[in-house]
Amino acid sequence: MKIHEYQARELLMEAGAPVPPGAMTETVEEAVAEATELLEAGSDMVVIKAQVHAGGRGKAGFVKLVRTRDEARSAAEFMLSNRMTSPQTPPDGLEVTRLLVASGVDIESEFYLAITVDRARSTYTLIASAEGGVEIEKVAEESPELILKEPLDPLLGLQAWQARKMAFRLGLEGKQVGQAVKAMMAVDSLLRSRDATLVEINPLVVTPASPTHPDGQVLAIDAKLNFDDNALFRQKEIHALADPGEEDPAEVHAQKFGLSYVALDGNIGCLVNGAGLAMSTMDIIKLHGGDPANFLDVGGSADREAVTEAFRIILSDSKVKGVLVNIFGGIMRCDTIAEAIVESAQEVGFNVPLVVRLEGTNVEAARAILRDKQSELPTMRSAEDLTEAAKMVCGLVAD
Ligand code: GDP
Ligand code: MG
Repeated sequence: MKIHEYQARELLMEAGAPVPPGAMTETVEEAVAEATELLEAGSDMVVIKAQVHAGGRGKAGFVKLVRTRDEARSAAEFMLSNRMTSPQTPPDGLEVTRLLVASGVDIESEFYLAITVDRARSTYTLIASAEGGVEIEKVAEESPELILKEPLDPLLGLQAWQARKMAFRLGLEGKQVGQAVKAMMAVDSLLRSRDATLVEINPLVVTPASPTHPDGQVLAIDAKLNFDDNALFRQKEIHALADPGEEDPAEVHAQKFGLSYVALDGNIGCLVNGAGLAMSTMDIIKLHGGDPANFLDVGGSADREAVTEAFRIILSDSKVKGVLVNIFGGIMRCDTIAEAIVESAQEVGFNVPLVVRLEGTNVEAARAILRDKQSELPTMRSAEDLTEAAKMVCGLVAD
């Protein structure tokens, strides 16, 4: 589960990281009022930032520094009336309904700082770079040696000496070291106490020297948090921060029926039971030149209603030009699937080719149901095995 930057900043602040003050707003008027307040309280500049579950906002023009009320107004108007497109959004972009209005800071240097799971090492890892900011993906690709890593003990977590070592490797000096250590320790404690899988600050900045801060100040000015969905049952406060508006509506709907559904870009809708079988079904479609429109695992215990809903979700996607049903009945009974196919045909109608491959529990009963209703399912073809089914659906969609 992801949350918005304004929520992530609150959590970071609670954990002890230094974050400039700000507030979330939902209208142009609110944003202007908040910006005016910050400017009048002494901020030289204010930053206005679109709150969407995607990065790359800076380059897309959805992070703007403003110095006056009028500039704040035009930035807020622009962001709330245009969709944001970046390499991390769908091609048609995301609607922006919330803005973070925060105190802006002068930047001397930008760092990358994160703790996330290193699956190869089976532990958390502290990751940092002196080349932080909006180009971090490019740095990781072109000069991976500039991305510094420190594996963490699974039980002890980040130790102060490791944080200090990292601060020195980043080239920090004087009072900056202690401040950066504090930020790193806050990232670690937030990650552990809230069952996060990623806590990322990009950029963590050092501000220029000033009379009050001769070594500059270390501040977190962007934050991204991901949480372990399987731990949400014990993280009620975090779960409450979820924003369903940022999720794919079809995926949210599928969850209500206990279906695991992920929309993809291809045109072959897949209905499968079991995550492993769903993965191999997608692989074999690809192998035979097709492109899956979704991942859909109906699970073992879905009833006819849930499976019918699954077909409804697949068929409501206008990109779908063919459907492949691949069921290996264990706990799931093949006749339940057959009944759902018939019900979907009656309710929604299969206007696209449908290839069905069933095997396992009650398969004979299932075949009998489908044979009986063949006239109601003119686009249906049966396949004996997975390869035949995949070739068939790919061929029908290509025609
Ligand atoms: P992202 O592009 O979605 O990651 O959004 P960020 O919040 O990281 O902002 C992108 C970039 O805008 C940062 O890397 C900074 O260079 C710049 N930026 C953001 N906030 C401030 C600020 O308060 N002051 C200054 N000077 N630059 C900022
Ligand atoms: Mg950023």
